Amino acid sequence: MVAVTYVRDIDTSRAFYELLAQGGTTATCQVRDIHALPCEKKADVRLADSEDGTVWACLPHAEETLVTVPGAFIASQDGQGIAGFLSRRRG
Ligand SMILES: [Zn+2]
Repeated sequence: MVAVTYVRDIDTSRAFYELLAQGGTTATCQVRDIHALPCEKKADVRLADSEDGTVWACLPHAEETLVTVPGAFIASQDGQGIAGFLSRRRG
């Protein structure tokens, strides 16, 4: 397993490891290498940004993306996101 040493903060790190503990996903990494070839490894996390951009990524590419892309974060898959928050509000 690749050590993740460059995650930005505790919340991001916690979300990352919680997702890994859930077994990740069956998706394939969607990040291309520097020669524009598909990675094709099993994706471990889904990343997002505030512009609605998302990508499935393996651990090395997730780490690279989090370090390189300002505002990139790990998209939670626990169903407790903003939609869940709004659905629980009364009034
Ligand atoms: Zn990859």
